[in-house]
Amino acid sequence: LLFDGDFISADRVLLRGRRLEHLNGILKASTGDRIPVGRVNGAMGFGEVLKLSDQEAELQVTLAHSPPPALPLTLILAMPRPKMFRRVLQTCASLGVKDIWLINSYKVEKSFWQTPWLSEDNLRENLTLGLEQAKDTVMPQVHIRKLFKPFVEDELPTLLADKRALVAHPGMTTPCPTHLDGPAALCIGPEGGFTDYEVAKLGEAGCQGVHLGRRILRVETAVPVLVSRLFDACQ
Ligand code: SAM
Repeated sequence: LLFDGDFISADRVLLRGRRLEHLNGILKASTGDRIPVGRVNGAMGFGEVLKLSDQEAELQVTLAHSPPPALPLTLILAMPRPKMFRRVLQTCASLGVKDIWLINSYKVEKSFWQTPWLSEDNLRENLTLGLEQAKDTVMPQVHIRKLFKPFVEDELPTLLADKRALVAHPGMTTPCPTHLDGPAALCIGPEGGFTDYEVAKLGEAGCQGVHLGRRILRVETAVPVLVSRLFDACQ
């Protein structure tokens, strides 16, 4: 469990709502149990359950060790369909991606941007779920860019400086690398894929087109498959 504004003193937290449900329903905790906890953007440790009821729980918290290392990856993702969005965010947070750019592209439907999951609170809640799963505390940064061209022309070249930059696109001749030596940036397209124009613009900004083989993966599969190649290289 990750805490933020839940501290009632330096080492005590009071839990209600989702975290209390998790404690009772998923962890089946009892008074005296020690459960893994962390402070958002801080240390990891354990919390001893002092009091527990259906209304609230009080934990004494000892935070002693640092979270796992971040993945040196900037993920540039065409805005996914709302149905997949939360799972994709949680997956990115669990895999240690700390820099996520949600961008527009021709085949992103306008309605995708209307999703309530893009609100700051909902983004944070879903990223927290992913972090908690992976026993990480460092909140990823999410940047939203609703215009493709200004993003690719004005911001992307700087963002890619000193990074190995890739755009995953079916039909490219270069296979996706299985090992990367330094920081990387990875672009993943929408359900209908990037257009040729978009692939060319990403190429001008410094992204090399790569493929993953003949199987075309859905976005929610392509994200963990592509990110885990880097994840493996960094363990
Ligand atoms: N409709 C597109 C097509 O057939 O070309 C496929 C889009 S795919 C569902 C969504 C995104 O996942 C792609 O834009 C790409 O970034 C990534 N992707 C999925 N499978 C891939 C593959 N075999 N090679 C490279 N990228 C892939």
